[in-house]
Amino acid sequence: MFFDEKMETLDRPSMEAIQLERLQRTVKRVYERVPMYRERLDAAGVKPEDIQTLRDLQRIPFTDKADLRDHYPFGMFAVPKKDIVRIHASSGTTGKPTVVGYTRNDMNTWTDCVARLATAVGVTAEDTVQISFGYGLFTGAFGLHQAMEKIGCAVIPMSSGNTEKQIMIMRDFGTTVLVATPSYAIYLGETCRKMGLDPKKDLKLRVGLFGGEATSLKMRKELEDSLGILATDNYGMSELIGPGVSGECVYQCGMHISEDHFIPEIIDPATGEVLPAGSWGELVVTTITKEALPVLRYRTHDITRLIYEPCQCGRTTVRMEKLRGRSDDMLIIRGVNVFPGQIDTVLSRVSEVGPHYEITVTRDGPLDKMELKVELIDGSVLESFSQLESVQKKVRATLRSVLGLDADVKIVEPQTLQRFEGKAKRIKDLRHI
Ligand SMILES: [Zn+2]
Repeated sequence: MFFDEKMETLDRPSMEAIQLERLQRTVKRVYERVPMYRERLDAAGVKPEDIQTLRDLQRIPFTDKADLRDHYPFGMFAVPKKDIVRIHASSGTTGKPTVVGYTRNDMNTWTDCVARLATAVGVTAEDTVQISFGYGLFTGAFGLHQAMEKIGCAVIPMSSGNTEKQIMIMRDFGTTVLVATPSYAIYLGETCRKMGLDPKKDLKLRVGLFGGEATSLKMRKELEDSLGILATDNYGMSELIGPGVSGECVYQCGMHISEDHFIPEIIDPATGEVLPAGSWGELVVTTITKEALPVLRYRTHDITRLIYEPCQCGRTTVRMEKLRGRSDDMLIIRGVNVFPGQIDTVLSRVSEVGPHYEITVTRDGPLDKMELKVELIDGSVLESFSQLESVQKKVRATLRSVLGLDADVKIVEPQTLQRFEGKAKRIKDLRHI
């Protein structure tokens, strides 16, 4: 199912023509209206009229989160305040948040982009949607809320937390679609069973639209099996628009990017060079339709790759692979680059362990030491030393083959590692304390 079939199935030359025209307009717009961009472009020796092909995008300097922070709160807006109809902000862990604004047209674009993702997984006006993202300055809840309403769904603005009540409402209201972070959805499922309910029988859930953090293949399988849903990954960030940049279709083979609104590139996070098609690297996105806060070559710091092959669903838009972590979350352990997503890959290859893990990195003299704690799926393994030892060896060997790193592997009982209501924090780096 399509929300905007024409744009979602456009042939590549037509899409590129649209992208170029919109890119030219955006560069002109920010050059004329945003002092920071005018200075940056002048310093790089690029005038708006120099953008003649999509390749010319590479001549434009990057934008980073720090730029938004430095121009807090509205210094990067390209419209007068009277044209702004909504303001959101992303919580900075330190200092000032990053502030983003929307014009009326931006709100429509945003709503349509999210509606595409929901429609791609079969959400219709028949559905009852429970939004379990936290409402507030964060773009997640409102982004999904608006789009689901536009599709015609019955929307429950539940917000996060209050898990037992969430489950009561889900059951009593007959919720069919859940919107949440994947870690919270897992927690919801576990709480459900603790309450003596079987989510597959007692709830009517059929689709889970997940976002806010990456879902490992293992987490996805756990979610699908325990809640009886089709679980899809969705991607966005407030600086780009909020949710709605990309999302998976029912084939779950990468997230389709709305390329008529966003131009993606993959760069080497260390050198900033654009990498050949299909390479893993950092995702950089240029918005080409936003009015209030257009961003040129925004560094997302998310590690992924782009897939240009056509998808079975009929969409021709480029897909981005499941994230492999963030370039700034990248741990360097004994000189080896480690992305949290690679740990997910390791765990997905060992059937005896679940998706939850905890990494602690310490320093022993000059040497970095990594400890990985993983949860068993079946606790009875703990009773047999030889079985336990074999699981431990398997995790360690897989880790060595995927990362080229050795670690202390600790196998723990099911349900003992911390669960997260928001973004999961699974890494403790104690080297600099
Ligand atoms: Zn598809």
